[in-house]
Amino acid sequence: ASYQKMSKSESIKVVVRCRPLNSREKEDGRQKIVDMDKKSCQVVLNNPKGDTSGEPPKQFTFDAVMDEFISQKDVYELSARPIVSNVIEGYNGTVFAYGQTGTGKTHTMDGGPTPELQGLIPNSFEHIFSEVEASTDKQWMVRASYLEIYNEEVRDLLSKNPDVALELKEHKESGVYVKGLNAFVVKSVGELRNVVEVGKKNKSVGATAMNKDSSRSHSIFTITIESMDAGNKDGGHVRVGKLNLVDLAGSERQSKTGATGDRLKEATKINLSLSALGNVISALVDGKSGHIPYRDSKLTRMLQDSLGGNTKTVMVANVGPADWNYDETLSTLRYANRAKNI
Ligand code: ADP
Ligand code: MG
Repeated sequence: ASYQKMSKSESIKVVVRCRPLNSREKEDGRQKIVDMDKKSCQVVLNNPKGDTSGEPPKQFTFDAVMDEFISQKDVYELSARPIVSNVIEGYNGTVFAYGQTGTGKTHTMDGGPTPELQGLIPNSFEHIFSEVEASTDKQWMVRASYLEIYNEEVRDLLSKNPDVALELKEHKESGVYVKGLNAFVVKSVGELRNVVEVGKKNKSVGATAMNKDSSRSHSIFTITIESMDAGNKDGGHVRVGKLNLVDLAGSERQSKTGATGDRLKEATKINLSLSALGNVISALVDGKSGHIPYRDSKLTRMLQDSLGGNTKTVMVANVGPADWNYDETLSTLRYANRAKNI
């Protein structure tokens, strides 16, 4: 589709996905105010009915736009496939799902239980192991880890003690890493799926026990793929690629939610890491500024070696179609627009 038009040198891509009106919105007679044109990759955000501001409709162009009718497979083809291919070849890559809570970030990343509904994460598992199994001249090692950043604290979702906050450390050669993070060797799609299940259980148990609002955490599933020429057991050239699959915290502005105390503190930190991410990406895209502010948040520090340089990144900005979301949808489209390489 439109993706193929883009030059290979573009390392950061931004795509927008709009979910269908949900049954509640239909019952309430909500109006659909998001229009998409797949050919021109344009999104138009119309004013809600009755709006008297005189503002013109807002128009944006992205690397791809995905409407309510797109299949999960095509979302994978259009957004993640080129990145995963690159990771298999030994480069780093990152996929972000960004957007207001309820717009489909987790649907995009994880998806539903059937093969047609499976999201980017399980589709990437199948892609990776189909390549691994098809290659006869290489030895492979695939490892997975799964963590969560909540309130600027990092937790290992695969740990026996998932409520312990882990430290970020920096190593002279290998860069930033999470001290004590588990990484499990996986030999099949099934084993990767099991890792996801363990992490998800820990996530929901932790959320209940600590009274956390899971829409406020960033979760990062990381797959590291090492390959070595089979005939070259010792001293062979090892290639290492790392794929980060990131389901970001909800981007909704917290000032409107009336949060106070700890909740407000949390909210400020979420906004901090999302705005730090926006700043890093726009500095990378801009290319003029020598300073990339990776250090401004845990999220950007941790992903430093997977953003910029010869890595590939795609941001899937998720929006809802309905009029009541106007402000948040506009803010998501603006955030996504800043990350664009034009
Ligand atoms: P988020 O993770 O952004 O909070 P979810 O992925 O949980 O949002 O989506 C909210 C609800 O909308 C879920 O019930 C999900 O299944 C549904 N949904 C989201 N995107 C789509 C889509 N493209 N098609 C159908 N249902 C969707
Ligand atoms: Mg979610």
